[in-house]
Amino acid sequence: MADCFYHTGRPAVARCKQCGRPLCGECRIVGAGGIFCSQKCLDSFSVFAQRAEEIEAKRTKPSGVKAFVKLIIFLAVLFILYLVIKKFL
Ligand SMILES: [Zn+2]
Ligand SMILES: [Zn+2]
Repeated sequence: MADCFYHTGRPAVARCKQCGRPLCGECRIVGAGGIFCSQKCLDSFSVFAQRAEEIEAKRTKPSGVKAFVKLIIFLAVLFILYLVIKKFL
């Protein structure tokens, strides 16, 4: 691995999850969701993670509609099958 971003010659043990900078054991900041090089990166990552969660929450809404459409299609198929079977009887 590369040297620490802040200390030349000191081998890095981790990388900042936000910007990807190599970090030594002394420089890394362990925050919620991973390791970061600075408070700034930790903050921007948590903002990013929060935004991703919001997008994900919005995305789950139309999938509920999709499930409903799938149910309708399933019922239609069952109804057609019922009609076909009825013809044969
Ligand atoms: Zn960083
Ligand atoms: Zn360092």
